[in-house]
Amino acid sequence: MSVAIDTAPTTEQALLERIPTGLYIDGRWQDAEAGRTFAVIDPATGAPIAQVADATPEDGIRALDAAVAAQAAWAATAPRTRGEILRRAFDLVQERADEIAMLITLEMGKPLAEARGEAAYGGEFLRWFGEEAVRISGRFGLNPEGTGHMVVSQRPVGPCFFITPWNFPLAMATRKIAPALAAGCTVVVKPAELTPLTTLLFVSILEEAGVPAGVVNVVTTTRSADVSAPIIADPRLRKLSFTGSTPVGRKLIAQAAEGVLRVSMELGGNAPFVVFDDADLDKAVDGALLAKFRNIGQACTAANRFIVHEDVAEEFAARLADRVRAMRIGRGTDDGVQIGPLIDDRAVEKAASLVADAVARGATLHVGGAAVDGPGTFFEPTVLSGIAAGSEILSEEIFGPVLAIATFTDEDEAVRMANDTEYGLVSYVFTSDLARGHRMIDRIDTGMMGLNTGVVSNAAAPFGGVKQSGVGREGGLEGIHEFLSTKYTLIPA
Ligand code: NAD
Repeated sequence: MSVAIDTAPTTEQALLERIPTGLYIDGRWQDAEAGRTFAVIDPATGAPIAQVADATPEDGIRALDAAVAAQAAWAATAPRTRGEILRRAFDLVQERADEIAMLITLEMGKPLAEARGEAAYGGEFLRWFGEEAVRISGRFGLNPEGTGHMVVSQRPVGPCFFITPWNFPLAMATRKIAPALAAGCTVVVKPAELTPLTTLLFVSILEEAGVPAGVVNVVTTTRSADVSAPIIADPRLRKLSFTGSTPVGRKLIAQAAEGVLRVSMELGGNAPFVVFDDADLDKAVDGALLAKFRNIGQACTAANRFIVHEDVAEEFAARLADRVRAMRIGRGTDDGVQIGPLIDDRAVEKAASLVADAVARGATLHVGGAAVDGPGTFFEPTVLSGIAAGSEILSEEIFGPVLAIATFTDEDEAVRMANDTEYGLVSYVFTSDLARGHRMIDRIDTGMMGLNTGVVSNAAAPFGGVKQSGVGREGGLEGIHEFLSTKYTLIPA
């Protein structure tokens, strides 16, 4: 099978020519110290679409210098002013949503409709935390002995370093930058080398919204570890926030331990999607398609293991296979495309090898199962059922459009299977029994749950995992507290 690709129309080229490609340090766009650049590739065509500055470790430290220099003045800026800057940034993201969405699709590959969804979702963090900036409060009270007043206040943590992944290039940046700015922290951001352009466009929007020089700094680089390590080791840094894979997260926690940094870690997932025999199967199928194929399966929240009651598994698989057979594969910019390319060759190889392992262990392949001939890194949307215990697909994060169904016989078995993973980010449960739904909230060990829904993300919600899916929460009332430290003062009465 192969996919027909249109060549980039001139509007795409005009957009790409407007995107800044330098480092953004202390309010100035600049070349990397060594003058090097690297190419950003459109995964739908394999063609380079831009050249971006390739920062050195020295550039990273210059970015931290700028963040440190700007910290005191930004922390002293009135909360209302910080909130209004974020609100202006929200308005600008709304106004420029089409342009942002197109850029996300060009560098990351997701269908344009989903990229518009990301522009809306990512923008919401600016509005939400713009509102939260003026609601940072403390407590005041008499101590139990009646001898003094206890004052509890919240202070900005200080300069922060953010490392973000390629799969949601706008939302993963705004989900960190917005609460940090609201709290009064300055930041250095290192976006993923595969998708740096959206962050660069977003930072130009922050500049336009009035973020002062030095408050937000961006270093793009192919030398992620070399550039990050000295920043994390610098005693002036106060906080590390990372979104990405669990193996890299573990390494970064170890580095952060040296300086006893505050850390937030949004790591990998292996979400169970549990369908009971009392579930509304139409809703479960719709939810499954969203939870699995959104972002071409490349989401930390993607349903990874479908755990379906044996009495409904066959029908569930057949209905899904019909819907998946009708899905359109292609470049995300083309009308009606639901399945864009995977991010790179390695992702295609991984999907193919997980399917091969499952089939070798006896799984039934209903539809898909193969890579698509290039150009571009496409993989067919796939449905497998009868996944045997021990198959790699049950323990690995698939990160591709492969839907794998295993069966259970009773509730205890469903819970045991759902919890049989080192991850604990999100789970999905479909049941019409309210009491059972409540039991699942208690018994399934994840930081988030969708009960009869396949999508949970919302700027107002605390997003994050338990177990090896991470530490901390982004979004919601909780999100700003990741960037505040609590100070207690005793004043004798
Ligand atoms: P990744 O861990 O390979 O890379 C993430 C970021 O870390 C990139 O910017 C990369 O350049 C950088 N990086 C890699 N090695 C590094 C090192 N040694 N030192 C410093 N930086 C380093 O992950 P990815 O492939 O970009 O993203 C996919 C992963 O992210 C999946 O595991 C997914 O589940 C996870 N993810 C989690 C969430 C969440 O909120 N929990 C959200 C999105 C993605």
